[in-house]
Amino acid sequence: MTTRTRLHWTNFSFVVFAHLAAAFAIVYLCVFTFSFWTIGFGVLWGTLCGLSITGGYHRLFSHGAYEASWPLRLFYLLFGAASVQNSALSWAADHRVHHAHTDREPDPYSVQHGFWWAHIGWVLCKPKNIGDRKRKSLVRDLEADPLIRFQHRFYVPLALLFGAGAPAAIGTAWGDPLGAMLVAGFLRLVVQWHATFSVNSFAHLVGSKPYEKSSSARDSLLVALMTMGEGYHNFHHRFQADYRNGVRWYHFDPTKWWVWSASRLGLARKLRRVPKDRIRAALAATKLESQNAPRRPDHAPL
Ligand SMILES: [Zn+2]
Ligand SMILES: [Zn+2]
Repeated sequence: MTTRTRLHWTNFSFVVFAHLAAAFAIVYLCVFTFSFWTIGFGVLWGTLCGLSITGGYHRLFSHGAYEASWPLRLFYLLFGAASVQNSALSWAADHRVHHAHTDREPDPYSVQHGFWWAHIGWVLCKPKNIGDRKRKSLVRDLEADPLIRFQHRFYVPLALLFGAGAPAAIGTAWGDPLGAMLVAGFLRLVVQWHATFSVNSFAHLVGSKPYEKSSSARDSLLVALMTMGEGYHNFHHRFQADYRNGVRWYHFDPTKWWVWSASRLGLARKLRRVPKDRIRAALAATKLESQNAPRRPDHAPL
């Protein structure tokens, strides 16, 4: 048995439990108590948790694409914990390894091991690791932030509190604490997981490669729709530090609009943008590479 196929029992058990709870949430809504308040609250909680992963864990903590004030960082860390995708420190360490070694060892969610490995297999198993000391060295900058250290230390209680406890407590306001916990807690969690995971699976398999051809990362509108803009993954792999993933004004990237709005409110600053001429140069180079690539003869077997 290779390292890659050893099951991570804690993760496996919780993922199964959460999927069962999410299925029960649907039954609860359809059979027991249907409430627009509960559904609306689930959508709101999902949006806050989603932005904490895309705008917080990903673009801010992993890539330093902008700077955020402490209230915004705290918001990301609390709702990031509710997203049950590990602490910001661990998430960023895995993600930095993914960018530094895309498609090869030790990329923790390399699509070269197949769709299911990139999507959820790496969560359920124990992927090959670069070693604790090396992982720590990758996120030393983040460890300097006391809020990040606090979230890392108390990750499990914070995940329970903001992932299930707070939704139940808020649900008492309209008399449906169980529904609020099931829908905004577990159904939201499972939907959000698969949306995030689709960046590692679908956005490395389906879509176009306008900015670089050397990695499997692709631009996919479908994934962008599911992930608040994270689907423009080819651009992101080419220009990781840009706070935008959908770089054109019409690209569906609510996370960039959120970060831009936060900057207008004084909560974020130093938004990093790649100069237009570098983006144009990348587009031209990729186009030229495509034109010069050897064409497959018409009679070649598929
Ligand atoms: Zn990234
Ligand atoms: Zn990627």
